[in-house]
Amino acid sequence: MSAAAAGSSSSPAPRLEGKVALVTGGASGIGEAIVRLFREHGAKVCIADIKDEAGQKLWDSLGGDQHALFLHCDVTVEEEVSRAVDATAEKFGTLDIIVNNAGITGNKITDIRNVDFAEFRKVIDINLVGVFHGMKHAARVMIPNKRGSIISLASVASVMGGLGPHAYTASKHAVVGLTKNVAAELGKHGIRVNCVSPYAVPTALSMPYLPEDERKDDALKGFLAFVGGEANLKGVDLLPKDVAEAVLYLASDEARYVSALNLMVDGGFTSVNLNLR
Ligand code: NAD
Repeated sequence: MSAAAAGSSSSPAPRLEGKVALVTGGASGIGEAIVRLFREHGAKVCIADIKDEAGQKLWDSLGGDQHALFLHCDVTVEEEVSRAVDATAEKFGTLDIIVNNAGITGNKITDIRNVDFAEFRKVIDINLVGVFHGMKHAARVMIPNKRGSIISLASVASVMGGLGPHAYTASKHAVVGLTKNVAAELGKHGIRVNCVSPYAVPTALSMPYLPEDERKDDALKGFLAFVGGEANLKGVDLLPKDVAEAVLYLASDEARYVSALNLMVDGGFTSVNLNLR
């Protein structure tokens, strides 16, 4: 009996063969995990980020081959996003998938009376306006192709208050709203639009919330204590790769009838009341 017939296989069939993807904020954290998984599954990938050194290093570690590309791109600047979309399509022939992943949390949680407007605005510019730029320019290339998958990173803070700074929560709720509206518009062109909402993942984004000593030893525990609440799944740490797997699903043809979804990767955190357990 073949490995496939037995239901096991050492290397699963590639799920993005022939596809072209652009990942914003792809140089580190969850974005890096998405880039690596997409390459493993046969996609040609553009890493678009403001971190030039990390982006270049990731491209090198992927073999520096012609199936990947690093481009400097600040998602808050429309021309840079437009250029990244065009350069990706020019190099690889098209654009099938965009992952609007770039994001920041902004300030520590503060009283609404003490929120600095410039900081608030910066979070909205990256987390919401950046996603809007990505959707707009990806749609420009995808509509004539009559296919495409647009995926944006939201968060558990897209459906619950009190988990992050005001601007972060507002921006992530808005990403879900934008996703639904754009999904409603682009469905007739065969384009699916979804978002993914992770619980706490230990990355550079979550580290500033931890005291120095906790960053090294038990960063996840510290971050979970910061977020508060109890995870439903016991003994399972959420890793960047787990989020990347959810993004891979939405990018792949296996999800060909899935659109306007906010896919929670939160172990049940936002759906399960543990108080009675
Ligand atoms: P990270 O800080 O590790 O990575 C974010 C990446 O985005 C970095 O490479 C950074 O350079 C890039 N970036 C920041 N500003 C940019 C800009 N203006 N233009 C282009 N790139 C920019 O963070 P992460 O944890 O990997 O977060 C990725 C996404 O996942 C974010 O949207 C975040 O809100 C979301 N998320 C993270 C967590 C978590 O716990 N880490 C939980 C829920 C949702």
